[in-house]
Amino acid sequence: MTEDEALAAARRLLRESRRVLVLAGAGLSRESGIPTFRGEDGLWRRFRPEELATPGAFARMPEQVWDWYRWRWERVREARPHAGHRALARLAMCRRTTVANQNVDGLLEEAYAAAGADGRGVMAVHGTLRRAHCQRCGASREMGELPAAGVPACSCGGRLRPSVVWFGEELDPLHLARLAEEGEEADLALAVGTSALVWPAAGVLPRVRRRGRTVVVVNPDRDAAGPGDLWLEGGAARLLPALVEDLDGEDA
Ligand code: NAD
Ligand code: ZN
Repeated sequence: MTEDEALAAARRLLRESRRVLVLAGAGLSRESGIPTFRGEDGLWRRFRPEELATPGAFARMPEQVWDWYRWRWERVREARPHAGHRALARLAMCRRTTVANQNVDGLLEEAYAAAGADGRGVMAVHGTLRRAHCQRCGASREMGELPAAGVPACSCGGRLRPSVVWFGEELDPLHLARLAEEGEEADLALAVGTSALVWPAAGVLPRVRRRGRTVVVVNPDRDAAGPGDLWLEGGAARLLPALVEDLDGEDA
């Protein structure tokens, strides 16, 4: 199947769908300049996130963990949404769309806000890098307000931690419930820029497929992507706008 044929098939399925589930991963934000974990410019190469992004690591070496998150935060604060983020926001204006967003960068949320799309459609299943909260009292702070070095402390004396979900931590039960519902109800799933290795979020794709519904994959690297039925092989910034372009102006 050529790319044009795959795009035409995916557009047709999207036009016929009322309810769409999107699983978005680090590849969605790569063209905004934020490295993925596993690619060539991946964060795994310089650091070992599986050793840093855990509650145990934070208890043992909070300074290193904070240095790493500050380094990531610096990349995120300079980044802007690209045409692919904006295309997903347009999709949300045309179809009932739920995004399980594994990205913690907030770029998709920014594109939604700019487009006037309903932000409740995006679940930040792995939390956000834009905020931190107190481990003792739960008080929340913006990353940009925190000191540039050391382990930030709360006024209650507790330690602040990034508001992301670490390996070994549970996902929000409300997010899990919505994922389970979409797994049963979505007419179509879109897996964008994800290796679909991080569970339980990735588990929604096999559920959709079991019901005979299509999983459309947007990813330049077939070997690094999860399971799918229809392949759009390339970057999200080019292919997502091509996918949703003729949905505009239609009835939802
Ligand atoms: P991953 O790093 O495991 O996989 C990235 C995927 O993106 C790969 O399949 C790769 O082939 C694909 N990809 C690379 N460039 C792309 C492009 N231009 N367009 C589309 N796809 C592209 O990422 P993951 O599946 O999200 O899982 C890793 C975990 O890392 C997640 O839980 C997430 O929270 C975290 N993470 C988040 C960010 C971020 O917020 N931007 C960045 C790195 C990691
Ligand atoms: Zn506190």
